Amino acid sequence: MGIIDSTDFTLTCPNCGEAESGRAVQYGSSWSHGGWSNPPDFKKFVVQWQEDKSYGPLVRAATCQKCGAAASVGTM
Ligand SMILES: [Zn+2]
Repeated sequence: MGIIDSTDFTLTCPNCGEAESGRAVQYGSSWSHGGWSNPPDFKKFVVQWQEDKSYGPLVRAATCQKCGAAASVGTM
């Protein structure tokens, strides 16, 4: 078992410029896809996650801790 996929999330606040990134990884092998790790912890943003068994966690909504603005979400 190893890491077979990963998604990087980058959250940016358009209001105050705070930014933070985190990574979720999927464990498994080429013949057996395992589960995704828990979504990454963000300290500068409050994130509501939507768990998807196939594609991994998705950000449903993210809010800046500092100013309360809705953050923009980038994934890679
Ligand atoms: Zn902000």
